[in-house]
Amino acid sequence: MENNNTEMLLGANDMAKLGCNDCAGCSDCCRGMGDSILLDPYDIYMLQAAVGQTFSQLLRDPIDLHVEDGLILPAIRMQEDTDACGFLSKDGRCSIHSHRPGLCRLFPLGRNYDEQGLRYFVLEDACRIGSRTKVKIKKWLEIGQLPKYEQFLTVWHDLKKRIQEQIAEHGSDEYAQKANVVFLETFYQTPYDTEQDFYLQFDSRLANERIAGIIGGSPAAV
Ligand code: SF4
Ligand code: SF4
Repeated sequence: MENNNTEMLLGANDMAKLGCNDCAGCSDCCRGMGDSILLDPYDIYMLQAAVGQTFSQLLRDPIDLHVEDGLILPAIRMQEDTDACGFLSKDGRCSIHSHRPGLCRLFPLGRNYDEQGLRYFVLEDACRIGSRTKVKIKKWLEIGQLPKYEQFLTVWHDLKKRIQEQIAEHGSDEYAQKANVVFLETFYQTPYDTEQDFYLQFDSRLANERIAGIIGGSPAAV
């Protein structure tokens, strides 16, 4: 998500009005979210670690596929009967809290990517709790190795954009299909080793020549 008001952009060491008394019985942002909670490779690595299921197994229920500008991306699936995330427990708590996806950690913040890198902004009125307390963003995110994580997110954002541009430029269903197969296989379907560092595994996948093929727009390499 982009925010054109650069004065409102914040870094991980900035404070923002985010504290909501541990959500105090509210689970609004785990319900009725459509397919907006997109999942990146780090999210899949964390979900694999949390529930011991591969991407293909996760696709059978709690996650779904979503198309964004021609690129297929997984997203949290809202359950048909409840319109809630499948990880939401009966008492309204996240059953995978310590492994929850990046967009869940972020809410009610958005991410902005520009020449200054990744920064954050508050999605005003997104959370129904009105009287929020000030919290440092990096504390709110509760994520280890935050500089590495932010670097990964920036690379990931750029990669998706470049592949989406290639898909648009080629304008053929055949190219889009090939690019999506390579993209999904490389970053999602091939299981991660959750005992090993995520970032090393991601970097090695990023260096895969099939990925270079789709970024370079070469159908032959795909
Ligand atoms: S809407 Fe706000 S208070 Fe409710 S669960 Fe989400 S972050 Fe917490
Ligand atoms: S993964 Fe957890 S925090 Fe995210 S939508 Fe599902 S229940 Fe809510």
